[in-house]
Amino acid sequence: MTADVDHILGQADWLRTDGIQAVFAAIEQEGDQARVVGGAVRNTLLGHPVPDVDIATTAPPETVMQRARAAGLKPVGTGLDHGTVTVLSGGFPYEVTTLREDVETFGRQARVVFGRDWTRDAERRDFTLNALYVDRFGHLHDPLGGLEDCLARRVRFIGAPDRRIQEDYLRILRFFRIYAAYGQGDMDAEGLGACLRQRDGLRHLSAERIGHEMRRLLRAPLAGPALRMMNDCGLWEIATGGLARIEDYSALRGLEPFALEVTDPELGLVVLGGFVREDLERICDRFRLSNAERSRMRTAWAALKRLRQAKDLPDAPALVYEFGRQGAIDGLLAFWAGLRGQRRAEDGPQEALLSRLRQVPVPEFPLKGADLIATGHKPGPALGDLLKQLEAKWRESGFSMNKDALIRLADA
Ligand code: ATP
Ligand code: MG
Repeated sequence: MTADVDHILGQADWLRTDGIQAVFAAIEQEGDQARVVGGAVRNTLLGHPVPDVDIATTAPPETVMQRARAAGLKPVGTGLDHGTVTVLSGGFPYEVTTLREDVETFGRQARVVFGRDWTRDAERRDFTLNALYVDRFGHLHDPLGGLEDCLARRVRFIGAPDRRIQEDYLRILRFFRIYAAYGQGDMDAEGLGACLRQRDGLRHLSAERIGHEMRRLLRAPLAGPALRMMNDCGLWEIATGGLARIEDYSALRGLEPFALEVTDPELGLVVLGGFVREDLERICDRFRLSNAERSRMRTAWAALKRLRQAKDLPDAPALVYEFGRQGAIDGLLAFWAGLRGQRRAEDGPQEALLSRLRQVPVPEFPLKGADLIATGHKPGPALGDLLKQLEAKWRESGFSMNKDALIRLADA
């Protein structure tokens, strides 16, 4: 098996670039070693794309800087305190981090020092499938026996789960996120038990860190099952201060064949946590969402409300006019998920409306105040009222009246 694995890793295109080989050549001098670690190794073995490549090394950060510079590469001391240097090579950034080990000090927090021991570096990582290393030749180094877990897509804590969580409560969320992204089958029972017992620790985390992991979780393929388990462990309530609509969320993810938007965190959060408008605002704060994310959620929410109140599905042009194309699509998907979650209604009408929402042009009101002034109307509040009335007529006409017809109506 190891020979196969070495073959797969040796063939990985990211390992065969001149860029990364130049980084290895620069660092591996005077007995120092360097190995790719974590996501890149795991993803290659699982056939997932590799978005970035992290390198671990025995060389101290200052030495990495010097050697990279001497080799004509561009080192940037992005996180020198943590031992991280970003080395630009072949147009690609490599995060090179010096091996670290935890030194037990007082209480639960471990102090971190630089080290030269690959096993100790592995031991302070989170899950066995994330503690795999590969050298410049594609040879796998597996100090903790994580290969089997990785190939079985089993997410297991390194060491005693309760203790590892107490060192960093973010690992609770990472447990669910990494499972959602790379796992399969049942979640590891031991890990789940620890997350359940340690759940109150989530309260100590910053909103940024929670939001970062939750966004990534919501994009992952198994977000539905992962969130169900999080909810069963009482974690969703602690993280958001509200309840979760797990059935509706699973139904939303079931709409993926119709719409890729179902993996967008903003839409997922509206479906999951939006019972009343205040829920949305609270989730936005708890996850420290950006203004753009908040505004997408609010619009989706408004469109969803409109769809829930309507007796029949509204027309596509009216929806895209009021909520914009994205807002209308989001609102429809949330509404559709709700119907499916309660096993109500056929898909047909929603599917037809969705394809119309993607195609119809967004109606644009063809008349400006200046057009009315040019035809003799006086500027002022009355003109604003007139414009509003004309816009209402235009909407009633199914957005069909043109500018001349509207001017004629204004003069009538
Ligand atoms: P992805 O491809 O989704 O980014 P990743 O494994 O690269 O997955 P990162 O968050 O980029 O995840 O972390 C890189 C590596 O650092 C992980 O593989 C893991 O070994 C280690 N790591 C990250 N966060 C923690 C943590 N909170 N505790 C322990 N180890 C961690
Ligand atoms: Mg990563």
